[in-house]
Amino acid sequence: MEKKKTICTFSGSSLGQREAYTRDAALLGRLIGENNFDLVYGGGAIGLMGIVADEAKKHGSFVLGVLPESMNKKEVRVKNVESELLIVKDMHERKRTMYQRGDFFVALPGGIGTFEELMEIFTWKQLGYHKKGIVLLNTENYYSSLIQQFERAVSDGFLKEEVLSSICVAQKPEDVLSYINGYKEEKLPEKI
Ligand code: AMP
Repeated sequence: MEKKKTICTFSGSSLGQREAYTRDAALLGRLIGENNFDLVYGGGAIGLMGIVADEAKKHGSFVLGVLPESMNKKEVRVKNVESELLIVKDMHERKRTMYQRGDFFVALPGGIGTFEELMEIFTWKQLGYHKKGIVLLNTENYYSSLIQQFERAVSDGFLKEEVLSSICVAQKPEDVLSYINGYKEEKLPEKI
């Protein structure tokens, strides 16, 4: 039997101020479970992170949380949503573990921590360190201004068009799963 694939999510440790963020986080978690994927994420039960994890586990995913020692506090672990919680030394080890365990990456709405993880995994793809699929869940057009900035980088000669088009922008959680289910690895042009 083929090994189950794992989706890695990056998302806010807050809920954000629009109901649609919570709705889409819950639906994405449910679809991850129903589509027979496991989940790896940053650990803990707060914000959109906790919602995705909770729903994915309820719908059959094995949920691995990866928390750095400094965040291993009861305010973060308000409820047990993981199947397994790995406590690691620091943020670098956490991200390396998440990137190794994940077969696909999905960024939901979030703040600076989410942006950082998205930018890093995108940069690693550009550098050819991996060929895994990356999706932005653009709930309520949350990422549209960031995408515009990426397009500016392309038109001003800082980013290759093929690199930008190697990430997927999904308007709905269902579109995230359609993309991932049909994903084929592609080779990007070499970055010098
Ligand atoms: P942010 O988008 O700034 O809320 O940060 C969320 C991202 O950063 C997550 O994907 C986590 O990996 C990490 N992170 C930031 N704060 C926390 C926290 N309190 N608990 C767990 N992970 C967090």
